[in-house]
Amino acid sequence: MKSDLIDAVARTTSHRDRDELNAAVAKLLFDHLEPARVTVYRLLGDGDDRKVQRRVSLVAGGSQEGPAVGDPAALPRVTEMPHWHECVLLKDVAHFSPSSVADTGDRLCSVFPVFGERDVSGMVEIESSGRRACLKPHEVHLVNGVLRILHNHLAVLDYGERDQLTGLLNRRTFEASFGKLRERTRELARTTGSGSASWLAVLDVDRFKSINDSHGHLFGDEVLLLLARLMNDTFRIIDQVFRFGGEEFVVVIDGADESGAARAFERFRAKVELFRFPQVGRATISIGYTQINPDDIPASAVARADAALYYAKQNGRNRSDCHESLVRAGLIARKEERSEVELF
Ligand code: GH3
Ligand code: MG
Ligand code: MG
Repeated sequence: MKSDLIDAVARTTSHRDRDELNAAVAKLLFDHLEPARVTVYRLLGDGDDRKVQRRVSLVAGGSQEGPAVGDPAALPRVTEMPHWHECVLLKDVAHFSPSSVADTGDRLCSVFPVFGERDVSGMVEIESSGRRACLKPHEVHLVNGVLRILHNHLAVLDYGERDQLTGLLNRRTFEASFGKLRERTRELARTTGSGSASWLAVLDVDRFKSINDSHGHLFGDEVLLLLARLMNDTFRIIDQVFRFGGEEFVVVIDGADESGAARAFERFRAKVELFRFPQVGRATISIGYTQINPDDIPASAVARADAALYYAKQNGRNRSDCHESLVRAGLIARKEERSEVELF
């Protein structure tokens, strides 16, 4: 039994993909505790506004549910379930006993915190199979131990996936997660029709070299750090923000039509223009963006956004331009499509 557990833990930490990792942890707990259900949740956002997003759920009988999709605004708040709220507030396991509410036939469940870098970043909920059957102390100990291993493994993954200065996802992570992104694009096109798409923007600080030259690298770095914060505050929790290298960033947003994407990127450009950076004062950015196609590879989407960014730089900077709209207006030539198919 013990060696089974060690094997299962070792298998768990072989995963580099978070969804696979979550599924492996859920499976491990499921096999060892034989509950009615194990669910792994991720927390999105800050404070009491944090939303709870299911990543994976395993149910007795063998069925599995994947990540909850759709509008993040529709996700439940962490405050909606008393045992979720207690778990996150007290950073400790919380138990939900239906008998304390009404005898609805609900099952007893225990919810454990999963720790991120600074705070609770997720939860694991274990629903017991027999009514009133509660996790035993040694089982609670086992779950906490497994979740500590998960926390350590996530910290190592984070270190490789994030940029050290800004804490944003790095370029390698962008390339590695592009396949999933394209899957989502396809799913979105299928479920919501042609009006809704994913968009990729390349953002570049205007005349950053002269900021460094006038104020020094340290203040240059501070500008990059504050820009990263502004991006995290401006874009929605499901949008993805990457530091691409140097003073260049990539933002991917989901579920917008062309005018929605234009508004989102333009809003951010204007916000940066109004922001006052310590010592440096005013700094501006230029943005080029494009719609992600189902057959894009990272390089093809980035090349289109780059072409629009180049146009923005050539035409006054401190502006945002859309590749498709520039092509329609005859202001730039359509980028040669290079798809995956041609590369192999
Ligand atoms: P443009 O408006 O055309 O983008 O002009 P620019 O000066 O921003 O463009 P350029 O690409 O010539 O310069 C980018 C500069 O960014 C050069 C480099 O010294 C600086 N840089 C790159 N990475 C970092 C960094 O991590 N920290 C700081 N402080 N500066 C960086
Ligand atoms: Mg640049
Ligand atoms: Mg620049």
